[in-house]
Amino acid sequence: MMPGFPSPLTAVPSDSPYVADASGFRGWADAVFTPASEAEVLDIIRHAFRDKVAITVAGAGSGLTGGRVAQGGWVVSLEKFNRLEIAPGRARAGAAVTLLQLRDAALRTGQFYAPDPTEITASVGGTIATNASGARSFRFGSTRRHVLALRVAQMDGRIAEYRRGDKVDFLLPRIPTPKTTKSTAGYPLAPDMDWIDLFCGSEGTLGIVLEAELALLPAPDQLFSAVVFFDRDELALDAVDAWRSVPDLRMLEYVGPEALDLIRSRYPEIPSAAQAALLIEAGDPVDLDAWAARLVEAAARSDDSWFAVSSADRERFRKFRHALPEVVNATVLQRGFMKMGTDYAVPVERNREMLGFYRERLRAELPGAYVIYGHIGDAHVHVNMLPASEPEAATATALLKEFARQAVALGGTVSAEHGLGKRKAHLLKLQYSPEHIQAMMDVKRRLDPDWLLGRGTLFDYAV
Ligand SMILES: Cc1cc2nc3c(=O)[nH]c(=O)nc-3n(C[C@H](O)[C@H](O)[C@H](O)COP(=O)(O)OP(=O)(O)OC[C@H]3O[C@@H](n4cnc5c(N)ncnc54)[C@H](O)[C@@H]3O)c2cc1C
Repeated sequence: MMPGFPSPLTAVPSDSPYVADASGFRGWADAVFTPASEAEVLDIIRHAFRDKVAITVAGAGSGLTGGRVAQGGWVVSLEKFNRLEIAPGRARAGAAVTLLQLRDAALRTGQFYAPDPTEITASVGGTIATNASGARSFRFGSTRRHVLALRVAQMDGRIAEYRRGDKVDFLLPRIPTPKTTKSTAGYPLAPDMDWIDLFCGSEGTLGIVLEAELALLPAPDQLFSAVVFFDRDELALDAVDAWRSVPDLRMLEYVGPEALDLIRSRYPEIPSAAQAALLIEAGDPVDLDAWAARLVEAAARSDDSWFAVSSADRERFRKFRHALPEVVNATVLQRGFMKMGTDYAVPVERNREMLGFYRERLRAELPGAYVIYGHIGDAHVHVNMLPASEPEAATATALLKEFARQAVALGGTVSAEHGLGKRKAHLLKLQYSPEHIQAMMDVKRRLDPDWLLGRGTLFDYAV
């Protein structure tokens, strides 16, 4: 055994951050490993394989579905894999590099990393594993599109480096994909797919991401950013329909009436009459006259909307947008519950229909105890429920399932960006047939015959 290889029976306290994630889900583990080299990772894999011990890979812990939360066995945290090199058009980043570190390092060279999950403490490894996306994915797509190469430790005891264009070397069926602009539920199997596309979004069930080469884009010279307020929710939704196809738009985010109310005390400068807001970013170049005309046409509250004139303003807007999930997550955890939020997306033409369905059911079943905000440009808003009692929590749980069924009925996905982890693994069956799930499980078993990696994530564990 390597020096410092801890005994598998090392106790991990039940309140250890290694056995929890940001959704409030908790688990347990026999040992936590923090390997410092590829050789150490392989040593852990070999021992786990020999003794048939489950391994759960941990990133930064900002996940919302329990994927990184072990239910026994060993936790392997890649926190020491923090090498970061920036070159023109690309970054080479260890799994532990945070999005904040990547963003700042890229910016110093006049570049930026386009996938933009608002949680900048998330790690490169975690965002690849969940195929994360965010506000700017409206224009730039999810993480998968920006991965040029991946270095992965596999359960056969090998380390492989896959580059874009390297194809999976065994037969794969084609799994139907939802008609949404983004989805990260299960493996998007297709004949001739790249290895990178298989590992991205596989939620730590197929291999351990050690390092990645990521595409960087030139930082924009000019951006128009704004938080645009509206007197009525309907006006904001009309503006979404009108603006979605504007070619220079790269962010279109929604804050519904209930969500605005939730953060008014933190942001007293929100206009009191405002009922909804859209966060927008457009460029490069910026046509300010065209935007001024669009705001008038949309009957927006132009006089007391917020406009960015500097990168500091833009950072303020990012924090404003990020305050929503932060407040929501803190509120549910304080009340003794876990996060109860949707991550469903529907085809963009079904956006209003889905929103209408959410609101009708929420007003009937959980009035005053929910907020809606998120990536409306991709028809992907998050409904978050804020139950205050056990009966309300039971209602919220039932609604989450009802909403998932409705999203699928409209051609949507049960996970657009967070993945399914353990908490939402049951939703996979709503989207895919038993044959499709079996095909995914066959791939899992091929790469991990003893089903050691990410046990309980995505699929029921049954060896
Ligand atoms: C306030 C808030 C806002 C958020 N906003 C967004 C958003 O806008 N968009 C979005 O997509 N997500 C968002 N998230 C969710 C979260 O940030 C993402 O899911 C992120 O990708 C998780 O990264 P992490 O490093 O924290 O991973 P963890 O939570 O540690 O793990 C997540 C999953 O990745 C696996 N994993 C981690 N590292 C590796 C690795 N090296 N190799 C293989 N598997 C690995 C784990 O096993 C687990 O299944 C938000 C979360 C919070 C708390």
